[in-house]
Amino acid sequence: MTQTTQSWWFVFYKDQLLLEKKGNGTFALPCGEIPPIVIKEKTTVHTITTLEGKNCKSFSLPAPIEESEQYVMIGLRASYEYLPLTHYQTAGKAHEILHWDRNSQFCSACGTPMEQKEDIMKRCPKCGREVYPSISTAVLVLVRKENSLLLVHARNFKGTFNSLVAGFLETGETLEECVAREVKEETGLDVKNITYFGNQPWPYPSGLMVGFIADYAGGEIKLQDEELSSGDFYTRDNLPELPRKLSLARKMIDWWIEHPND
Ligand SMILES: [Zn+2]
Repeated sequence: MTQTTQSWWFVFYKDQLLLEKKGNGTFALPCGEIPPIVIKEKTTVHTITTLEGKNCKSFSLPAPIEESEQYVMIGLRASYEYLPLTHYQTAGKAHEILHWDRNSQFCSACGTPMEQKEDIMKRCPKCGREVYPSISTAVLVLVRKENSLLLVHARNFKGTFNSLVAGFLETGETLEECVAREVKEETGLDVKNITYFGNQPWPYPSGLMVGFIADYAGGEIKLQDEELSSGDFYTRDNLPELPRKLSLARKMIDWWIEHPND
């Protein structure tokens, strides 16, 4: 029996992912029996998952790799434009695990160096505390009012586009309560008919976005100044710059554009 030892390699420096040049401006994940870059001592190589019958392995670099004839480093978000979706999604998972690894070096209860016990579990050798990668859940809300939808520009957006109201889930809160609270806090509006749309892992650095559709129920727009620089209702023929295609927000907005009668 022949056993393949080929692996996909997810090599990161911060959010920069190492890709192999394939000509004509195309890129691919490095694939091979040995890593594309020599692994420095004391580097943990993480086994992430399998993809198309090959192991996925990931490690962090202490410094970026300079662009060469063979390799280039590209931001994780930008890699969406170049990689098959499953490869981009696995890169996101790898990025989350490397982030978790960096931020769980010591036991948060007693300060002892943690030991990696399983792919996604570390245990403190002194007090026995176990840690797993944690995920921050955030909601996205598409608020409809007659034939228009609510779009906002948050001060932390990287760019000039407008998007949906979003915010992090708080302890002890249901997702629907979070939706109503975030819309109220950020825009002063009340919403009703809150329904689930879909969700998306958001590895920047370790989130899960959960999308909801809601209908306007009352109130005047009063923006939360520290978070939002603009916010208004827009009709289909008057939309501002929208978020890029990779985001769930854009998928929701596109759905709304295509479903004027829902
Ligand atoms: Zn401990």
